[in-house]
Amino acid sequence: MAEPAASHPLTSPLLSGSRRALAKAITLVESTRPEHEAQAQALLAEVAPHAGNSVRVGLTGVPGVGKSTFIEALGVRLADSGKRVAVLAVDPSSARTGGSIMGDKTRMPRLTVHPQAFIRPSPSGGTLGGVARRTRETIALCEAAGYDVVLVETVGVGQSEAQVAAMTDVFVLLTLPNAGDELQGIKRGIMELVDICVVNKADVSPHAAIRAQTELRTALTLLTPHGASWRPVALRASALSGEGLEEVWNAVERYVAGTDLSTRRRAQTVQWFDDLLREAVWRAFQAGVEAGHLRAIRADVAAGRLTAVQGVAAVLGDGTGGR
Ligand code: GDP
Repeated sequence: MAEPAASHPLTSPLLSGSRRALAKAITLVESTRPEHEAQAQALLAEVAPHAGNSVRVGLTGVPGVGKSTFIEALGVRLADSGKRVAVLAVDPSSARTGGSIMGDKTRMPRLTVHPQAFIRPSPSGGTLGGVARRTRETIALCEAAGYDVVLVETVGVGQSEAQVAAMTDVFVLLTLPNAGDELQGIKRGIMELVDICVVNKADVSPHAAIRAQTELRTALTLLTPHGASWRPVALRASALSGEGLEEVWNAVERYVAGTDLSTRRRAQTVQWFDDLLREAVWRAFQAGVEAGHLRAIRADVAAGRLTAVQGVAAVLGDGTGGR
């Protein structure tokens, strides 16, 4: 019997766990060509019923803290234990180059060749929001392909943490043993997102790591609202020696067991919808409005001939000022 015409050719191999199909599907979803977007939507709709079954872990930390070493060590450990592990790695170098120059083959050599693992580097540059939108869809694709754990890496600078935290179940921050100094640099906004904080490189200076852990514990306690179902934890580890990684994963599992993930995910889905809607409305608007008209009004606003509110009213032509 013939396949139903609507079925996307990647759906079946993706659902049977083909890494090649997964890689192609992600490329399709990341494409901005209109004909690809339609195909991507068809594919995503078909695989959606098979998504949602992974533990989604967001991971952040400043460059050099040991993220790729940590992801590689934890990933290999999980993959060796029989789990299928997908890593969506944000390539920190790409912000400047627009391409993936480091390449995760060199960043995570053992995980890259592990049959249970899938690594996908994404350029972090330019349209951060756009990448994040596709990261969410990429998570769904990985889940449909049967991955049990999806690790989403983000660089510890800028807006990306909030976006990654908004699409994962548990958010892990890696810090260094001199966290006391570093705490000054970690934006309060990021600390508020953290579920598990890990002082990495504890092998380098064990005493400093213990001190840092204590300081972070205090900081996290101060930030945790009363009655929260999960109290963020601070742990110590060495991504290099593997020490403490089991405790980190145990904390992830405790978090997953003790938290109402379905509520968190429902809220995230609504946020996703709002984000997509905002983007779609903006694109539809841009397609409908005459570019010269918009440019002229922008120029009027820039020159002070119109206030920003008047400019919006002029574009919408409704006198509301967009309110
Ligand atoms: P990233 O930029 O956050 O991805 O950091 P990397 O994983 O590339 O690590 C930066 C450097 O720190 C590398 O030279 C690693 O070998 C080293 N490193 C990472 N984790 C540890 C650790 O736990 N202990 C020690 N001693 N070195 C580490």
